[in-house]
Amino acid sequence: MSALGDEIKAMIASEGPITLERYMELALGHPEHGYYMGRDPFGAAGDFITAPEISQMFGELLGLWAAEVWASMGRPRPIRLIELGPGRGTMMSDALRAARIVPDFRSAIDVTLVETSPTLAEIQHETLLTSGAPVGWIPSLAEAPQGPAIVLANEFLDALPARQYVRSGGRWRERIVRLDKSGELEFAVTRESEPFILASGEEGDVLEVNPAAHRLVFELAGRLVKQGGVALFIDYGHAFTGLGNTLQAVRAHRMVDPLVDAGEADLTAHVDFAAMARSARAAGAAIYGPIDQGDFLRSIGIDGRTRALAERASPDRAAEFEVARQRLVGKNEGEMGAFFKVMAIANRAIAPPPGFEPDPPGS
Ligand code: SAH
Repeated sequence: MSALGDEIKAMIASEGPITLERYMELALGHPEHGYYMGRDPFGAAGDFITAPEISQMFGELLGLWAAEVWASMGRPRPIRLIELGPGRGTMMSDALRAARIVPDFRSAIDVTLVETSPTLAEIQHETLLTSGAPVGWIPSLAEAPQGPAIVLANEFLDALPARQYVRSGGRWRERIVRLDKSGELEFAVTRESEPFILASGEEGDVLEVNPAAHRLVFELAGRLVKQGGVALFIDYGHAFTGLGNTLQAVRAHRMVDPLVDAGEADLTAHVDFAAMARSARAAGAAIYGPIDQGDFLRSIGIDGRTRALAERASPDRAAEFEVARQRLVGKNEGEMGAFFKVMAIANRAIAPPPGFEPDPPGS
C-alpha cells in the first residue's frame, strides 16, 4: 500500500467515508503524496503519453492557431497566453518556437502557466528557460493577469475531481470510498439519496458530474466575455451528456484498480463536453465544437506540416513524423484522432477560431 493509501485509510477510520470527488482530489493533488506532486508521469518510461509528447507538430500547430486567433482579436498587446496544466511545458515551448514566424504576435506574448505541482513547474521552468518569452507560474486561474487572453488546455479537465451518483434501490446515491471488513478501501454509496436528480436510470447506472470543471469553465468563460479572448480545450470525452462510469486509473500504460496504491496511478474521468458547453454559454460565451482532434488538426494544417518537416529530415526521422501524424489524427483503435475532442470557448465578438464552423445563431 502507498503512503497516501495509508493516510486515506486512517482518515476514513477516524472521520468516516469520503466522496469519490474527495478521493480523486487527494489521489492527484495531495500536497505531499498526490500523483502529480512528486513525479514526471509522461512518456514511454512513465505512465502515459500525451499529444505534445508524441510530436512537436502538436504544439507548433497550436502556436500558429493562437497567432491567427490573436489577429482576429485585433492584435492586442500584451496578449496573455495562458496554459492550464502544462505537464512538461513541451506544448508551450513548441508553440512559442512556431510563433516566431509571426514576430508581432511573438513579441506581444506574456505567458502564464497554471500548475499545482511544484515538480512539474520546475520541469516547465527548465523547458522554457531558452524560450525568450516572459513566463509566470500561478496555482490557479483566478490569479492569472488580467486582459485579452488565449488559453490552451490539453488533458487538463480530465484531471479535475469527478463526482458520481449511482442508481441504487431506485434512487441516485453518491459514490463514496469506505473501509471494508479487512480495512481495505472499497466503493460504496451513501445511505441518503439525491432527490433533485431527475434523470431516470436502471439499477447500477452511473451519473457523473464534475463540479470543479464546471466552476473553472464558468469562471474562465466569464473572463473571456469581459476581457476578450478564446480558450481551447483538448481532451478525451463525449460530445453528449449520458450515463456511464468513466473513472479510470492508469499506471505504466496499463489500467489498474483506482483504489489500489492511491497517488501512484493517474486517475481521470472523461470530459462531458456538452456539460462544459452549458456552463460556458451560461456565462455568455460562444462555443465551437467539440470536434474530433483528427479533424481539427487536419483543418489547421497537420498534413502540410508533416510533409514540410519530413522533406527536411533523414528518412528515419521523416517516417517518425508520419507515424506521429497518424497517431494524432487516425480514428482507429489506439489512435487519438476520434477519441480526443477539441472545443473552443470564446468572446462572441471574435470570429470563429481556425478549425471550427460558426456557432449557430440562437444557441
Ligand atoms: N497538458 C500536459 C499535461 C497533462 S497532465 C500534456 O498534454 O502533456 C495534467 C496537468 O495538469 C499536469 O501538469 C498537472 O500537474 C496539472 N494539474 C492537475 N490538476 C490541476 C489543477 N487543479 N490546477 C492546475 N493544474 C493541475
